[in-house]
Amino acid sequence: MCEACATPPPSPNLTRAQLLRLLGVGVGAAVLPALPGGAAQAATSHGTGRGPVLVENVRGYTLTRKGRLREFSSILIAPDGKVAGLDAHAGRGVRRVNGKGRVLLPGMHDAHGHLWSYGALASELDLSGTRSLAEAQQALAAYAAAHPDLTWITGRGWNQVIWGLGRFPTAADLDVVVSDRPVWLTRVDGHAGVANTAALTVAGVTRDTQDPAGGQIIRDADGNPTGTFIDNAMGLVSSELPAPTIEDVRQRALTAQQKLNAVGITSISDAGTDAAGYLILRELAGAGTLTMRVNAFLSWDAFTEVGADVRTDSFAADMLRVRTVKLYVDGALGSRGAALLQPYSDDPANTGLLRIEPEELDRRVLAILRQGYQVAVHAIGDRGNRLVLDAYEKAFRRVGDRGLRHRIEHAQVVALDDIPRFKKLDLIASMQPVHATDDMNMAEDRVGPERIKGAYAWRKLLDQGTVIASGSDLPVSSALPFEGMHAAVTRTDREGRPAGGWYSEEAMTPVEALRSFTLDAAYAAHQERVIGTLEPGKWADFVITDMDPFHLPAGRAMWQTGILRTWVGGRQVGDYGDL
Ligand SMILES: [Zn+2]
Repeated sequence: MCEACATPPPSPNLTRAQLLRLLGVGVGAAVLPALPGGAAQAATSHGTGRGPVLVENVRGYTLTRKGRLREFSSILIAPDGKVAGLDAHAGRGVRRVNGKGRVLLPGMHDAHGHLWSYGALASELDLSGTRSLAEAQQALAAYAAAHPDLTWITGRGWNQVIWGLGRFPTAADLDVVVSDRPVWLTRVDGHAGVANTAALTVAGVTRDTQDPAGGQIIRDADGNPTGTFIDNAMGLVSSELPAPTIEDVRQRALTAQQKLNAVGITSISDAGTDAAGYLILRELAGAGTLTMRVNAFLSWDAFTEVGADVRTDSFAADMLRVRTVKLYVDGALGSRGAALLQPYSDDPANTGLLRIEPEELDRRVLAILRQGYQVAVHAIGDRGNRLVLDAYEKAFRRVGDRGLRHRIEHAQVVALDDIPRFKKLDLIASMQPVHATDDMNMAEDRVGPERIKGAYAWRKLLDQGTVIASGSDLPVSSALPFEGMHAAVTRTDREGRPAGGWYSEEAMTPVEALRSFTLDAAYAAHQERVIGTLEPGKWADFVITDMDPFHLPAGRAMWQTGILRTWVGGRQVGDYGDL
């Protein structure tokens, strides 16, 4: 569904002292490798194992460094896991893999996903498929019965728009199913949550509780909280959730990479890594256990706690990169938390929420730049986007952009006058094609027919030379990169609706769509020299698919492309069916 950024699951409350002890040579040395530059060499999962490998008899596609499509029929992988050549022949001592004529593409890079929320989903109640409140209540009842020992029931994925509810769900809606223990369910976009009465009691929320800055407690006509909390108000309840253990956090990373490799993702830019997440990623990368490259965006808290200590352009053969800090300026359209310049078309008294004061945004952007980090700011509404553009402009005037390719995450509804500023400031638009087709009906209700012209405006951005890095915002939207490419190219949903595409003049070409999920996603992560295309000297990260997305069989759509093999660093990490 809509935009936005899943609130990360809570993490163990490590103090800076504890964290630094773990990072150093003390307590954590047994499980954590030394930082790059240290004496210890990180293990790596890369390489073919023995000699070179030739994957032959494939219909290969890659972009060149210049972004042109090139075809090839075989790929030679050096023992170190890098591409040695295309259209090569097997020499002596080369192991041969027969691709049986299948399509081979560069591995997909999700330029904006939430791997921790995605990994946590496996152990939570998943409401993302529910079509009505009643269905969700049934799912909650079944989950509660199956998990009698859980002290809290947590879940995510509801969407009152899809339910046709015409309002947010309430504590009473949940109480009729579970009243003996707290329940906390986040909306599909991560920008709202609903609590039952037991959870409200634990959190101490009453009619006297004030709305926090950048948040809203939904109330009834008498001022009583109904149970739904928007954006920054969510913390009133979510701060009471039991903290996961380090092992829970590790499990989330492992679950996420396994599921994402299976849909063709070999790299992800994680839009919110906290200190504990960083520790786990570094441990897994260092031990050679990561099978998905992670470009981790530190949360503001993690940046202020440990940012000076953890910055790295490449750790463990490019498996981990930490050079970006994530900020939020506003909320999401679905919950009317996106900050708009003029009121919502379907709520004339409401212009949305700012999650941060503009002066504080300016201060943070400057502080991040000064530490040599790339900035990535979540901005959905046209006011949110304008404030971020203003903040960049002011900061660049003072210290320059330092060549760090700063980003706006989502850039979903942008005033037409502001679109050229993306180019002028040389910003990357980090966008999620499936949001357009998930949101199309809701978005136009929220902003009306005029403002929608600057919404999900890929063509306007591409034509002015702005780089679009595409992602899914998983678990907010479908993680399938080929579903993202389908949305990018057709501007339709899985069923092909609406016929002809929604504002189809903003569509991408198939090559642009591939580029935004590979080379340009890598560019946005400063990794275009090592991944993003299959060229000699880059890592052999690729997928073998069951369909040709550039020559679709009759009656098939691009989103139906299935993954048969996934390779990372010259090593096969997934086998999902016969070639
Ligand atoms: Zn997000």
